[in-house]
Amino acid sequence: MSFLNLCGTRIIRTKVAILGSGMAGMAAARTLSENGISDFLIIEAQSTLGGRMKEIKFGGYTIELGPSWIQGIRNNETGEENPIWTLANKHKLMNIYTDYDDLLTFDQNGFTNYSNIVNQAFDKFDQVVDDAAKRLALGLEDLSFAQGLSLQGWIPQTPHEKVADWWAFDFEYADTPSASSMIETSMHTKTSYARWSEDNHFVIDERGYGTLVREEAKTFTNEKNILYNSTVTKVKYSNRL
Ligand SMILES: Cc1cc2nc3c(=O)[nH]c(=O)nc-3n(C[C@H](O)[C@H](O)[C@H](O)COP(=O)(O)OP(=O)(O)OC[C@H]3O[C@@H](n4cnc5c(N)ncnc54)[C@H](O)[C@@H]3O)c2cc1C
Repeated sequence: MSFLNLCGTRIIRTKVAILGSGMAGMAAARTLSENGISDFLIIEAQSTLGGRMKEIKFGGYTIELGPSWIQGIRNNETGEENPIWTLANKHKLMNIYTDYDDLLTFDQNGFTNYSNIVNQAFDKFDQVVDDAAKRLALGLEDLSFAQGLSLQGWIPQTPHEKVADWWAFDFEYADTPSASSMIETSMHTKTSYARWSEDNHFVIDERGYGTLVREEAKTFTNEKNILYNSTVTKVKYSNRL
């Protein structure tokens, strides 16, 4: 049982309190609902559902501020469908296949084909992910991802190599290989998008990617289960039921 003390003005009693209404909070609430528990409250700091799945209107068009791709459709080994893809189909989220093989590379002279270097950077990335799993299994200490790449002979020096390195790493992880853990990055890769097939679909729906959370929430809950504009600042635990 959870008691929510709203700045000392109101006490709300609920069986389960869910902090945050992003995809994780929504999935937690849906799981409770599917198992017959309807006494839950989602507490959300913002005024909308969706968390990082958020968009703004710009020049009359929807601009995604967070995620834009559905990263893979299914697990090729088990056949399990990516639950985001399931939701996208259910709520008819418009999307378009992104063909990463159809890549044009440019430099200061205009179009220059160095996609072989880009492919090399991605191959090296995959090799470091495999090496990280071996290090973990052997109980070896972590390295930076850049050190892992260097052990694989990838030390980008030319401008083309540096662009390829950025595209293969920094673009996805929003940081440099030297500032990133080899093991953590690799485990994240394995358990998130590498879990699914390589086909990426770019969301082009004017309702925004977040419509998945908003529409799905409507199927199992109502506004009574959601507390907007409320930031949780303290969580206290007690044995009292
Ligand atoms: C720029 C960017 C691009 C991305 N691109 C992709 C992509 O293309 N494809 C993809 O699959 N993933 C992508 N991701 C990752 C994806 O957005 C996240 O993995 C996912 O949205 C996380 O969902 P979540 O529910 O775990 O967290 P969040 O979406 O962060 O939800 C957490 C919620 O909790 C609320 N909250 C936090 N603290 C409190 C508090 N104290 N009190 C009350 N409420 C609180 C927040 O307001 C928020 O609504 C991207 C992320 C970013 C930032």
